Amino acid sequence: MLELDSHPSGRHFLQIPGPTNVPDRVLRAIDHPTIDHRGPEFAVLGKAVLAGVKRVFQTERNVVIYPASGTGAWEAALVNTLSPGDRVLMAETGQFAALWKKLAERLSLTVDFMPGDWRQGANPAEIEKRLRTDVSSNSAHAIKAVCVVHNETSTGVTTPIAPIRAAIDRVGHPALLLVDTISSLGSIDYRHDEWGVDVTVGGSQKGLMLPPGLSFNAISAKALAASEHAKLARSYWDWKEMIASNATGYFPYTPATNLLYGLHEALEMLFAEGLPQVFARHDRLAEATRRAARAWGLEILCVNPAEYSSALTAIIVPDGHSADAFRKIVLERFNMSLGQGLGKVAGKIFRIGHLGYFNELMLCGTLAGVEMGLKLAGIPHRSGGVDAAMAYLAEAPTAHLAQAA
Ligand SMILES: *Cc1c(COP(=O)(O)O)cnc(C)c1O
Repeated sequence: MLELDSHPSGRHFLQIPGPTNVPDRVLRAIDHPTIDHRGPEFAVLGKAVLAGVKRVFQTERNVVIYPASGTGAWEAALVNTLSPGDRVLMAETGQFAALWKKLAERLSLTVDFMPGDWRQGANPAEIEKRLRTDVSSNSAHAIKAVCVVHNETSTGVTTPIAPIRAAIDRVGHPALLLVDTISSLGSIDYRHDEWGVDVTVGGSQKGLMLPPGLSFNAISAKALAASEHAKLARSYWDWKEMIASNATGYFPYTPATNLLYGLHEALEMLFAEGLPQVFARHDRLAEATRRAARAWGLEILCVNPAEYSSALTAIIVPDGHSADAFRKIVLERFNMSLGQGLGKVAGKIFRIGHLGYFNELMLCGTLAGVEMGLKLAGIPHRSGGVDAAMAYLAEAPTAHLAQAA
């Protein structure tokens, strides 16, 4: 028999950057009878979650919810807005940007991939330069979309989106701006409307504190207009039928009813804490994690402090040592999962997820597991990382206390 629960005592520490720890409240909400998705009760749920997710994307526009992983919503963003052979501009920020590129190419799009070293975000100046020179023979613009990953989950690097929008606007280029916020939504401030994003792609299993299985597209008026003429084949992902059904709280096909119960509960939790407080909590936990890494004498993969991710921290293991052997020890000895290095940085880094349902003492436990694991794995480091994090957490006031004071 498959041993599914090999660590029966105490909680597993799921400190990968998604899927993340699901709150008991959300699990209990999911544990309800599945109802008729065409019945009157469903419309109440449907309307509530469709309204709630708009607040998280900080948009007044349509947000559609797919019963799919984030990859499905990536595909939906492209097939609803683009036509075969269209050129799109993407930035190689890490593994997820590379996967989105692969998906785009399979859909017969032509990708201009701006190379990157996996330690920095997308560069607005480079995007501006590429757009400025983009005039095809008939003087139309060849590039139809700029695609950026807001929080590159493979590297712990965040790309600020407002400067990307500003770069596109400075050139007066008509390209759509498509942004992947799968691992930032609900943990790092994200503003679909204010930042002028045309399609935002989200997922359930990271900052939104849900199990995997839901994904999202937030859609600007310009993107919706583009979908009227976009020629890529689409059926399941078509916004048109979704938006039409959503108007009355329903879906064109069977939605993931029980995950929507969970979404409703997760949204309640986010709004009760307050989005600004949620973002401040993640900023604080991320800063504590970086202080621990520096005290250990280990290098953070993200080079630019303005691009530090508040959702996860990727830490480089010194040459000649295996990040994966270290992670194996941490899992076996301390029942904690840490994120592995993906693609180009496989075996060279480990990632600490500090997004979603997470607090100070969970972080202290996480960092203690890392520090003990570093020692057991024989990875050169100084002790005192946990102390550095504790010293910071004890002095930096939490948002809810700051508010009460
Ligand atoms: C997790 C993730 C994805 C992929 O989502 P799936 O749910 O695994 O399909 C895409 N982009 C980013 C930034 C992610 O973190």
